[in-house]
Amino acid sequence: MRKFIGIFLFVLGSMGAAYGHEEKDNNIRVYILDCGTIAVSDMDAFSSSGDYAKIQKTLSSSCYLIRHEKGDLIWDTGLPAALLGEKPAVNGVFTVSLKKTMPQQLKEIDVDPLKIKYISVSHSHFDHVGQVSSFAKSTWLVNDKEEKAMFSTEEKSKTYAAFKDLKRKVFKGDYDVFGDGSVMILDMPGHTEGHTVLKVKLKKTGVILLSGDLYHQIKSRELKRVPKFNYDEKMTRKSIKNFEKIAKSTNAKVIIQHDRRDLKNLPKLPNYLD
Ligand SMILES: [Zn+2]
Repeated sequence: MRKFIGIFLFVLGSMGAAYGHEEKDNNIRVYILDCGTIAVSDMDAFSSSGDYAKIQKTLSSSCYLIRHEKGDLIWDTGLPAALLGEKPAVNGVFTVSLKKTMPQQLKEIDVDPLKIKYISVSHSHFDHVGQVSSFAKSTWLVNDKEEKAMFSTEEKSKTYAAFKDLKRKVFKGDYDVFGDGSVMILDMPGHTEGHTVLKVKLKKTGVILLSGDLYHQIKSRELKRVPKFNYDEKMTRKSIKNFEKIAKSTNAKVIIQHDRRDLKNLPKLPNYLD
């Protein structure tokens, strides 16, 4: 009996130690950056069910700085810095504009873009890769399927020229950025060949999931709508199932990166989630 109690106390003690250890080490901060505005004159392309036709909507483009004791990660790089000070640019149904560049916002919190260790983009669409060239000294973390698609033709290689000279870490499936499970890039293909989302474990806030473009708006998550322009709808639906399973099991706070309703409730610089 005494031996049993001893083992019990030992297990209890190590649980406490493990818990305490994790609490002490996890001082991760997530800063939310404004990476532009996308006014959409007709949302039709955002639902394969056809029910968004003629609906107008303004989407935001958001980017993230994740500060971990082992280094910084930039998640998504928004609309191009060249839009700054320009009249909103029109491209088909999209009218895009930018109020502040990422380096300007990082300066407000004394972060040098050239000292950012890692960058990663949820996927390679124009509104997520716009300011990559501001992070020339970073190592680019990229899913093998997305990397392959980005450089599959000469034309595409030119589009993604800003990525070419970056140090590059190509991974398959999910990727544990700092090796402790706290910041995970998750493989959620379908929107593009190698689309990813980001899962971050925070001490106070708990788990957060940054959606990439798995969903563009809260409504699409509720209605399970998939854009017409996705690479593969079936693949997207599989990723949605996987994403929702993770969101439920971790009781995650889901942040839909393009939805202004989600973004409006998040801390503004210099404040952060932790
Ligand atoms: Zn997007």
